[in-house]
Amino acid sequence: MDLNFTSDEEEFRLKVRAFLEENVPKSGLSNSREERSDQHYLQRAKQWQRKLYDAGYVALAWPKEYGGQAMDPVRQTIVNDELVRAKAPFLIGGSGLGMLGPTLITWGNEEQRRRYLPKILTAEEIWCQGYSEPGSGSDLASLRTRAEIVGDEFIVNGQKVWTSGAQHADWMFCLVRTDPDAPKHRGISYILIDMHSPGITVRPLVQMTGDRGFNEVFFDNVHVPRKNLVAKLNEGWIVANATLFHERNMLGSATGSEQRFNRLLALAKTIKRDGRPLTEDPVFRQRLVDLEIRVESMRLHALRQLTDQVRGRNPGIESMVNKLVGTELNHDLATAAMEAMGDYSMLAREDERALDQGYWPYEWMFSLGLVIGGGTSHIQKNIIAERGLKMPKSR
Ligand SMILES: Cc1cc2nc3c(=O)[nH]c(=O)nc-3n(C[C@H](O)[C@H](O)[C@H](O)COP(=O)(O)OP(=O)(O)OC[C@H]3O[C@@H](n4cnc5c(N)ncnc54)[C@H](O)[C@@H]3O)c2cc1C
Repeated sequence: MDLNFTSDEEEFRLKVRAFLEENVPKSGLSNSREERSDQHYLQRAKQWQRKLYDAGYVALAWPKEYGGQAMDPVRQTIVNDELVRAKAPFLIGGSGLGMLGPTLITWGNEEQRRRYLPKILTAEEIWCQGYSEPGSGSDLASLRTRAEIVGDEFIVNGQKVWTSGAQHADWMFCLVRTDPDAPKHRGISYILIDMHSPGITVRPLVQMTGDRGFNEVFFDNVHVPRKNLVAKLNEGWIVANATLFHERNMLGSATGSEQRFNRLLALAKTIKRDGRPLTEDPVFRQRLVDLEIRVESMRLHALRQLTDQVRGRNPGIESMVNKLVGTELNHDLATAAMEAMGDYSMLAREDERALDQGYWPYEWMFSLGLVIGGGTSHIQKNIIAERGLKMPKSR
């Protein structure tokens, strides 16, 4: 097994790194989600994605006819790693780039691909995901938002919840029930809804971080053209799962976890227990080593996934493993930091006495959300057990 990148790939990495050193916005575009509904922030975030796209560093593996460069997934991975290393702001069009785009490439028709993909790349149109409803999260197939066909349109009524970014989204990829009499997985369709349509109300929900990152979305007789149906009527469940696969893949970054671990290590060196740094305390050292082993396993798992992609092998349940391991690891890294800081872990970013610029309390709360979002850890474990390990189905 060769885990090294080729000299061409290393050269490409240096080019990306140099570009990011020069161009990553130095201020005003933090990775916290709190100010994302602010119009000024939104404009700057869109400009940043556009700049990255113009430089050739967005969705490199997408087909050329839709604005991509048809490059191999290794180049895309290098760009992703370098963005994390450079602490570049998240891409505001992340849901379109990471979830809807790859889904449309496989499941959309030609008209839909040509209409939507280029504007996802340039951040001209921002997308949100309308899956969860009150009472339908883990049991997503029980969703009740109705879409009735009247002439050439769907008329949508119902409610979504926890919709990240709906407050600034132009479009939603949405699951709706189109056949209430069919078994629950068979009566669902996948449609694209213009968020500026009359009859849509978006209400923010405040998270424990204090951010207004997600929302309730209400539909009251919303008209959606029938041509916005992706794949076949009542066969949206399979498309929904394709999107979930891409989402779960997106949620764990080995480079991100490695960076968090290094930050935890640096913090532990500055905190004393029994007169010596925490890194010399035998109990805390053990904990750090356990975490480092998990970070390294994740790095190797990411390389295994990349090898599968390059060789065109079916990824199987790897994306669930990625999501489960990555999000739990990030939360455990933050928990270790919080415990290391003791009473200081109560001080938020605004407090000048906060350790490590108050990074950890926010990170601890935010990382807990990601253990739940995109499907909880329990659900990932069920899927891995049933589909990956072929264990008997849970009831
Ligand atoms: C930060 C964040 C962002 C989100 N963004 C979006 C978004 O943009 N769009 C969107 O549609 N949704 C979004 N969600 C919603 C997310 O997908 C759901 O919260 C998640 O699927 C869990 O559903 P639920 O909240 O209804 O919990 P429930 O399904 O009610 O689960 C409650 C508990 O029961 C456990 N449980 C349930 N069923 C089983 C089972 N069969 N076996 C074992 N344990 C089980 C769960 O693991 C959990 O611990 C987001 C959530 C978060 C936290």
